[in-house]
Amino acid sequence: MSNKHHTLLIVGGGAAGVSIANTFRRQDANIDIAIIEPSEKHYYQPGFTIIGGGAYTLAKTTKNEADLIDPSVVWIKDYADTFQPDNNTVTLRSGEVISYDYLVACPGLQLDWQKIQGLTETLGKNNVCSNYSPDTVEYTWECIKNAQGGTALFTQPPMPIKCAGAPQKIMYLAADRFRKKGILDKFSIEFYNAGPGIFGVPFFAKALLKVVADYGIKTHFGHNLIAIDGASKTATFETTDSEGNKQQITQQFDMIHVTPPQSAPDFIKQSPLANAAGWIDVNERTLQHNKYSNIFGLGDATSTPNAKTAAAVRKQVPVVVDNIINLMKKQAVREGYDGYGSCPLTTSLSTVMLAEFSYGGKVTPSFPWLDPRENRWIWWLGKIMGFPWLYWSFMLKGYRFDIPHLESYAKKFVDKA
Ligand SMILES: Cc1cc2nc3c(=O)[nH]c(=O)nc-3n(C[C@H](O)[C@H](O)[C@H](O)COP(=O)(O)OP(=O)(O)OC[C@H]3O[C@@H](n4cnc5c(N)ncnc54)[C@H](O)[C@@H]3O)c2cc1C
Repeated sequence: MSNKHHTLLIVGGGAAGVSIANTFRRQDANIDIAIIEPSEKHYYQPGFTIIGGGAYTLAKTTKNEADLIDPSVVWIKDYADTFQPDNNTVTLRSGEVISYDYLVACPGLQLDWQKIQGLTETLGKNNVCSNYSPDTVEYTWECIKNAQGGTALFTQPPMPIKCAGAPQKIMYLAADRFRKKGILDKFSIEFYNAGPGIFGVPFFAKALLKVVADYGIKTHFGHNLIAIDGASKTATFETTDSEGNKQQITQQFDMIHVTPPQSAPDFIKQSPLANAAGWIDVNERTLQHNKYSNIFGLGDATSTPNAKTAAAVRKQVPVVVDNIINLMKKQAVREGYDGYGSCPLTTSLSTVMLAEFSYGGKVTPSFPWLDPRENRWIWWLGKIMGFPWLYWSFMLKGYRFDIPHLESYAKKFVDKA
């Protein structure tokens, strides 16, 4: 049980919250730290893509939260409900009030399944699947494994979402499965994306269109999924033309992988921490709250315009930890975060295109000499072995390590593109 006041209080014990707590603990053995986190289980969500593709297991992506948080950190097993930043307090769902000197808010984002009419009723059956939840991800593999032909749809909602590449990654894994079974030509694989293009960074978008063409995938941009009827196996999309006129089209499917619309958690949207769009309103380089100087935010829940990824969290954690320590020493905060995010695009069951980029779509790889657009086996090994190991054994454990990511590494490839 908590003593109701903590020097450092963290809301959310996911990728960001556990990393912050354990990194802080390594820097300062005595500081009083508490985490508010309701869930007993912690998931390595980047692994969900390869579970859906039949190349990984849910067990490998799941650990007990209790085994991850340093035992000296107080774990408050409840939901944060409301914030009173003028009083430096957070009220829990139980009604208990916890006060703090410094607050780090990182409760991730919310999956808005209910925004697609009919989806919650049919998800997990009728060949309607999604990699976005631990409850549904294994069914994706069942759908792909059992598919013999027909129309396979993959959808992407409006941005922002976590791991913007994930809606198409599972499509390539499915296509490669079908190819390996010799049945790719029995499918019409179609990508329905609410956005205007295949990927937000043009350098990678060009390369991905070649992957799309290689599998014979049809793309539909500006198509937003709004309804699914599982029994009749139809999906309804809304399109908007250049004059703003909306139109609905309905498409039959044999299987459909849905990426749900996403937004800031409701309790954040309704809090004084939120900006107009509902996200935690922080400075995009210092990660300090724009109004409350003893509050920081990181991870998927913030207003920063980076790719919402665990890779971004890895670079944000030291910035938040150092800036809180700076404030404790009455020193200035530093502008340490440059918007880095990474998306290992699984282009087949043995290759990955490792897209790494920073604010403004700058291509900033961690590895010199290698063309980042190449589909490589070495990055596939990273995806199934290296990155999970980095996550569990270094990032979550609070070890500080920095692999520099530099625009200069990509210059000659970007210039040629
Ligand atoms: C299918 C999929 C594929 C992905 N692929 C990749 C990838 O290849 N590479 C990559 O880097 N990233 C990937 N990601 C994204 C990555 O998992 C997230 O960006 C990362 O987990 C964000 O960390 P976070 O701590 O902000 O949120 P999370 O890790 O989601 O943690 C949020 C935590 O807050 C808790 N919480 C929620 N509400 C409350 C509350 N009221 N009070 C207290 N706690 C609360 C939750 O229980 C949760 O534990 C993927 C995600 C998905 C779903």
